[in-house]
Amino acid sequence: MDFDPTEEQQAMRASVAKLMARCAPQDKLRQWDAQRVFPYEVYDAWVEAGLLQLPFPSEYGGLGGSALDMAIVVDELSRTSTDLCMVYSSAVFCGLNILRKGSEAQKAYWLPRVMDGRNKFAISISEPGAGSDVGAMDAAAIRHGAGYRVNGQKLWNTGAGLKDCVLSVYLKTDKRLPYRNGMSLLLIDNDAPGVKLRKLDMLGRRCAGTYEVFFADVDVPADRLVGGEGGGWDCLMSGLQLERAVSAASSCGGAQAVLDLARSYAQERVQFGQPIGTFQAIAHSLASMQTELDAARLLTMKAAWLVSKGRDALREITEAKLLASETYAKLANQGVHIMGAFGLSAEYPMERYFRDARSATIAAGTSETLRNLIAGLMGLKKAKT
Ligand SMILES: Cc1cc2nc3c(=O)[nH]c(=O)nc-3n(C[C@H](O)[C@H](O)[C@H](O)COP(=O)(O)OP(=O)(O)OC[C@H]3O[C@@H](n4cnc5c(N)ncnc54)[C@H](O)[C@@H]3O)c2cc1C
Repeated sequence: MDFDPTEEQQAMRASVAKLMARCAPQDKLRQWDAQRVFPYEVYDAWVEAGLLQLPFPSEYGGLGGSALDMAIVVDELSRTSTDLCMVYSSAVFCGLNILRKGSEAQKAYWLPRVMDGRNKFAISISEPGAGSDVGAMDAAAIRHGAGYRVNGQKLWNTGAGLKDCVLSVYLKTDKRLPYRNGMSLLLIDNDAPGVKLRKLDMLGRRCAGTYEVFFADVDVPADRLVGGEGGGWDCLMSGLQLERAVSAASSCGGAQAVLDLARSYAQERVQFGQPIGTFQAIAHSLASMQTELDAARLLTMKAAWLVSKGRDALREITEAKLLASETYAKLANQGVHIMGAFGLSAEYPMERYFRDARSATIAAGTSETLRNLIAGLMGLKKAKT
């Protein structure tokens, strides 16, 4: 058993850390969060560094990186900001769906646009009546002329309002078919006629932004259909393992940032004549945080490694997403507590970490959804999600 990342992976992590320190220093992160703007220059730097090329095979101009490489990059990006990293993850997730399920013509058209940053991508699944219960979706695309006409509403779409963003929209193309059947994936420009966006006022992740999207008689050409008509659920499932592995890695990076700050604060902050980190209560709290993060990261990297080997890792990935997201949210709460009132003040990034962390146990599958799935895989109930 070898737990060491390769030299290339160590170098990749170090170069991502350097890039983020240069492009996204703390004062800028604080400013972007306050102004609720996304820094396109950071995205450009990711493109220039080849991060968007990383998971795609060389025959399409990619770098042929593995799921484990992705997990390492996302962990490191999220150590600076889980908020910004969501924009990276969405683009990769949508691009990989096109790679897996698109036609050769679609791959030739879209993959260069993913890799050179011409387009950003957002995932558009959730609706007011369809959250954990994705199959309950109501937004629909019906055949119209040579393509489709789309009507309906989506909710909580991360990054949907970014410049040149293409929405990967999951829609019912046949409402006669029950539940997850009759669902298809269409790629729709966020500025197509009939598309309206509303940026929502959310607790965290304010740079990527969370959007409500309305579709009113939006005409979409047939060549924007990925995976064939009725192939939407298959497209969604084909990428879900990677999405959850990446989401777990992001929570590890976010939790690492929390721990780094809480530890250094505890070493510096003096009360009763000694650093608070020397009080056993605080030292034990930090020791538990370190232990929980190490466990979450180990499980995450093992799950990503299994995916890299082409092995089925549904249980490990689901467990990793569950443990890492709960660890991130828990550590952020403890991090605020260790810093006292400073933990709640914008003087330090801990309050932003806390806000950004809270959604980790909700987005990309709630903890209950994940426990249901793990229980199903253990033979305890029928797995639906
Ligand atoms: C920051 C953020 C970003 C997001 N980004 C996107 C995005 O880019 N694209 C997108 O499409 N969606 C996105 N979402 C939506 C996300 O996928 C949903 O919030 C999630 O699936 C849960 O749905 P819901 O919020 O409607 O909660 P609900 O499904 O209504 O659940 C409410 C509560 O009930 C529990 N619950 C539901 N069903 C069960 C059950 N069977 N057993 C036990 N408990 C249950 C849930 O666990 C939860 O605690 C995002 C959400 C957040 C917070």
